[in-house]
Amino acid sequence: MSEKFETHEHDVLVIGAGGAGLRAAIEALEQGASVGVVCKSLLGKAHTVMAEGGIAAAMCNVDSADGWKTHFRDTMFGGKYLNNWRMAQLHALEAPERVNELEQWGALFDRTQDGNILQRAFGGHTYKRLCHVGDRTGLEMIRTLQDRGVHKGFDVYMECTIVRLLKDGDRVAGALAYWREQGRFVVFKAKSVVMATGGIGKAWRITSNSWEYTGDGMALAYEAGAELLDMEFVQFHPTGMVWPPGVQGLLVTEAVRGEGGILRNKTGERFMERYDPKRMELSTRDVVARSIYTEVKEGRGTEHGGAFLDISHKPADYVKKKLPSMYHQFKELADVDITTGPMEVGPTCHYMMGGIRVEAETAQSTVPGLFAAGEAAAGLHGANRLGGNSLSDLLVFGRRAGAAAAKHAKEVSAPTVDATKILEAERDALEPFQRKTGENPYAIHRDLQEVMQNLVGIYRTREDVRTALGELEKFKARLANVSIEGSRMFNPGWHLSLELKSMLTISEAVARSALVREESRGAHSRIDFPEPSAEWGKKNNIIKREGAAMTLRQDTRPEMPEELKQILAEEK
Ligand SMILES: Cc1cc2nc3c(=O)[nH]c(=O)nc-3n(C[C@H](O)[C@H](O)[C@H](O)COP(=O)(O)OP(=O)(O)OC[C@H]3O[C@@H](n4cnc5c(N)ncnc54)[C@H](O)[C@@H]3O)c2cc1C
Repeated sequence: MSEKFETHEHDVLVIGAGGAGLRAAIEALEQGASVGVVCKSLLGKAHTVMAEGGIAAAMCNVDSADGWKTHFRDTMFGGKYLNNWRMAQLHALEAPERVNELEQWGALFDRTQDGNILQRAFGGHTYKRLCHVGDRTGLEMIRTLQDRGVHKGFDVYMECTIVRLLKDGDRVAGALAYWREQGRFVVFKAKSVVMATGGIGKAWRITSNSWEYTGDGMALAYEAGAELLDMEFVQFHPTGMVWPPGVQGLLVTEAVRGEGGILRNKTGERFMERYDPKRMELSTRDVVARSIYTEVKEGRGTEHGGAFLDISHKPADYVKKKLPSMYHQFKELADVDITTGPMEVGPTCHYMMGGIRVEAETAQSTVPGLFAAGEAAAGLHGANRLGGNSLSDLLVFGRRAGAAAAKHAKEVSAPTVDATKILEAERDALEPFQRKTGENPYAIHRDLQEVMQNLVGIYRTREDVRTALGELEKFKARLANVSIEGSRMFNPGWHLSLELKSMLTISEAVARSALVREESRGAHSRIDFPEPSAEWGKKNNIIKREGAAMTLRQDTRPEMPEELKQILAEEK
């Protein structure tokens, strides 16, 4: 085996170099583990770099009345109480320390007059809580973590895609990957693996997500026997660009509303007064997205099928300083000057609340030695995520995953990797080259996006989701017949055919979970069950592989301890 495959060995293998992966890697290094970080694009190009609005943490720099208890309550309320309450507690408690640490490592945040980290308002947060760097917070975060990690000494494998997790009995033993450039396979052996591969937005047609978001990590973990949690909860961000068509879905950061942006329909009405008069534009994302969708559906949308979002009542210099990316994005892509007129916006698929089920303290999945953090993991956000709570999630649970992975690696012996399993995974990955004629993966991807957009989107019905499940079966049959031309060297069609497998698996998990949850809660809106149900409020949907079959069961949520119940009651 060692002759056939290039092989690398680490105590901890981190898959994904976004905020979660980098924070996990730094922590594992600090605990003395040898760490390898694998990412399918270039280091520094992960999704985290696109984050704009900020990191939510109750630092109390702007609103001294804030505190972890209010952040905990906001997160639970935003998630419609389906959150893993222990994760929500740890997150609210630890986020300020993680932000301070980031600053000590060199991150330069916007400042208050007295030199503290500046915080801005965001939807669903009671107080001004988002630590930010204009609207380029993710860039600063990635830069800081990357510098720290490289300096500390992790090994990086870039443009390297993991296609299978390897196991030794029940425990994880490493992974098989290929170099995207040459198409050669490479084996990673590891005692612990941290999955930090992000979400699956690319399964929908209108999305803020980049090409990397194809649900690989969730699918790889599922294939390896890990449980997936509450997959029906897919967040549609209320404000993506709707025009021109080439940039439809591109994110318009919530910071625009945080800085005072106002939403109006084509008649000039500030319609959020009808949907959430208390919070208005700063209502939670699920509510604002449905409100815009409803305005458009009922004929009050803009020319290109969206709503107007206006920040031009603020001084032009202020807008350019606080929202520089938005200013340039609209000027260059839509020829709109947001300092003098409104933007046109509409909902866009943005974030996956569901994902790999993990234990709160350690971020370990149900497979021994397999950890998960960031958007690939689930639990913290429940039925709906608050803006800013992802970047803090990456820091808090990335660190916890890295620490637990390093500890696990110290406690176990080196795993054995079964050579036949590696050969099997290699053969499966190369199969599309064996067929001389067959389907084009791009056609399947286009059809998948259409089905998920139209049938498993913002509003769902039993009939639509059943139809989607039927279509997904057909896509699986089509994928089995995909044929790829050319060589293995930087072949995007081949890459997509492998990513499609992940997208189909995870789309099926989303659709199955959406079908059985007969209620509306957070981001999951069923037209045929428009109200939340007390019964469903007690349950999590769990997806697991049994043999070749995808199974679904409901677990009753653990009771919240009295002290946390007390916090929710007090803060109401
Ligand atoms: C435009 C935009 C703006 C946002 N703004 C904010 C914000 O202001 N505040 C906030 O809290 N959240 C924001 N979010 C959400 C937040 O950015 C993401 O949820 C978060 O960055 C996810 O981080 P991650 O570490 O989990 O994954 P990512 O940063 O996406 O990293 C995933 C990594 O996994 C790698 N990978 C994936 N599959 C494989 C594979 N098969 N093999 C090898 N590597 C693989 C990728 O190459 C990448 O390195 C925003 C999202 C978008 C799209």
